Formats: sequence, structure tokens, C-alpha cells
Amino acid sequence: GVATLYVVTPTYRRPEQEAELTRMAQTLLLVRNVRWIVIEDAKAPSKPVAKLLQRFGLPYEHLTAAMPEQYRKKKGPKPKGVAQRNRGLQWLRANAREGVFYFADDDNTYDVSIFEEIRTTKRVSMWPVGLCTKAGLSTPVVSTATGAFVGFHDGWIGGRKFPVDMAGFAVSVQFLHQRPKAQMPYSPGFEEDGFLRSLAPFEPKEIELKADNCTKVLVWHTQTKANAPSPPLDMAKYNQTNLA
Ligand code: UDP
Ligand code: MN
Repeated sequence: GVATLYVVTPTYRRPEQEAELTRMAQTLLLVRNVRWIVIEDAKAPSKPVAKLLQRFGLPYEHLTAAMPEQYRKKKGPKPKGVAQRNRGLQWLRANAREGVFYFADDDNTYDVSIFEEIRTTKRVSMWPVGLCTKAGLSTPVVSTATGAFVGFHDGWIGGRKFPVDMAGFAVSVQFLHQRPKAQMPYSPGFEEDGFLRSLAPFEPKEIELKADNCTKVLVWHTQTKANAPSPPLDMAKYNQTNLA
């Protein structure tokens, strides 16, 4: 059979949310044997997300995990999506036996071929991410002479052992089961590095290179601009009162 792909997506309520999730759902409809693990940054599941997930008919799980209050209240960069990705790891440990998982944020742009690339991951795979940081690209660097991994390129290395973007790696479920303590830290900027370090023993030279040995960009770290709040959800009523 074909290995199952677990796409773990943190999401949160804002005017752009339904647009992001619609685009992502329609991308995932083109992928076979996929299970979408959607985890809201909230105490309880919301109606709009529940309805959207039911409507598209993808295999999915609708979970929640709120960012702890101490991080939400703090000024400056926040550990966005960390509580949810850790909830996703908990779900995988309890429910998945085989396959591969991918932390796929709701606002990125995915070429469907990345999902086929990911499927053959034995332990940890990586590939380029476009539109990422001031460098415009985050990627493993591969020797043109040998085709072997030689290092990382990223707009910000920051002393990280794995200076990669969240959208640039996937992990096998079996490998996760062999790492029962692996989790993501609440450290803005160091979420990827912290999680990948928690998979120890695992070294950068062991990375499985995807996307034609990291020569293709199949994922982009797109960001949607903030918009004005959505109109009321009861569109029929809104039309009558505001647009008549
Ligand atoms: N996110 C969240 N709660 C927040 C902010 C973001 O759950 O308070 C989610 C968001 O939906 C996305 C991920 O965390 O899937 C990363 O957030 P974002 O895309 O805003 O981060 P950036 O593009 O700046 O890395
Ligand atoms: Mn994003």
C-alpha cells in the first residue's frame, strides 16, 4: 500500500482563516492517502472550521490546543502553532502506526508533488522552501560535484544546528515512535531547531534530500496580508440590511 501522509496544520481564528483553509483543503484533495490533522489555537473547536472540514470530504481530525496564556500575554515574537503541533504529535503517537507527517502551516503554498516526495521518508527528509526570510530561500545546500549534503542556506542561521523552516521537513511516524520524548519547544525562532534536536540521535548529514536533491522549490512560505474583519457569518441577513 501507499504510505499515509499526516498533514499537521495549526490554525487560528482571523478574517483570512477560511480563505487559507479552503485553499489548503483544495490542494490536499489532489493528494492520495492523506489525513489532515487540523488543530485550532482555541479551547474548543469552532463552527466555521468544523463546517469547512465536513464540506470538503477529506479524511481529517479536528483538534484543539490553545497557546498557553503566559506566551499569549508576552510582548514580542510568539511561539505560534507550538501547542498545536505538540498536540499533533500526541495524536500521532496514540493513533498512527506507519506513514509520514508534515507540519504544514495554513498559509503556505504547496505544489502537490511535494506530498509524493515526502511519502518515501524513512526517517527525516528536507527540501527547499521559497519566499523564506530575507534570503528568499531556505534550503539544504548540496554539492554540485557529489550531490551530497554540505550545509544549510537561510537568511538567519542564529546558531541553529538545523536552520530550516517549518515547511521544509517531514518525519516518519515510525521514527517518531522511536523518539518518545521528541517535542517542539516554546521558543520563537527556534521551534524547528528545537524539535529536530529533540529527535537525537539524528545528525544533519543523515537528512534525506527531496525535491530532486534540493534543486526544486515545491513549497513557498507565502504570507497573506491582514484584512478588515469579515462581515457577519449570516450573509443572507447581511445582504438585506447592508447591501439593499
Ligand atoms: N498560528 C496560530 N496561532 C497564532 C498565530 C499563528 O495557531 O496566534 C498558526 C497559523 O495559523 C500558522 C502557524 O501557526 O499555521 C504559523 O503562523 P504564521 O503563518 O502566522 O507564521 P509565519 O508565517 O510568520 O511564520
Ligand atoms: Mn505563515
